Amino acid sequence: MLDADFFRRWMTATAASVEREADRLTALDSPIGDADHGSNLRRGFAAVTATLEKEAPDTPGGVLTLAGRQLISTVGGASGPLYGTLLRRTGKALGDASEVSEADFAAAFRTGIEAVTTLGGAAPGDKTMVDALLPAVDALGDGFAAARTAAEEGAVATTPLQARKGRASYLGERSIGHQDPGATSSALLVAALAEANGD
Ligand code: ADP
Ligand code: MG
Ligand code: MG
Repeated sequence: MLDADFFRRWMTATAASVEREADRLTALDSPIGDADHGSNLRRGFAAVTATLEKEAPDTPGGVLTLAGRQLISTVGGASGPLYGTLLRRTGKALGDASEVSEADFAAAFRTGIEAVTTLGGAAPGDKTMVDALLPAVDALGDGFAAARTAAEEGAVATTPLQARKGRASYLGERSIGHQDPGATSSALLVAALAEANGD
């Protein structure tokens, strides 16, 4: 079973890897965006860990809804509302249980991803974070490590795609040949899940 502490570790591990990889995320966002993805997420997840320490929610749903709200209020770019919605809606779907199963989490995470597609309108193959998140949730039944591999492969597979959503879509065919920054950060988010689980 996964408790509030597991979800706190997930957010802390995400903040640490975003911090480590911020320059790479920003570099990926420079040919096909506005070179702020690393700094956006670094600011957002630093705020998330600070808030979680201060307020210390005691349920999985409480941790994720608070994290999501914090991302929405601290990240100005497209990724803030999208990641904020992902975590907030995943948290809402977990309700107020003090512990949840991996299957409960997988179902809730799928609800969160669906909320991202509703908000942003991205379909699979549009070269967005969805291209890492959907394969990850599809693989979650095989465990967190399988989800991590699926997300990493999904992020790499965005390279030959033409962007159809977000800033990168303004470039049309010139967006081809670059890995999507948001899919790359989503792979970090999913890898942090495996890390929180000790995989
Ligand atoms: P901004 O583009 O506002 O500067 P960021 O650089 O922080 O925001 O985030 C860019 C990432 O957000 C993209 O690489 C993409 O993965 C994701 N993204 C942008 N628009 C959408 C959308 N409509 N649906 C899903 N993901 C999106
Ligand atoms: Mg950007
Ligand atoms: Mg921006």
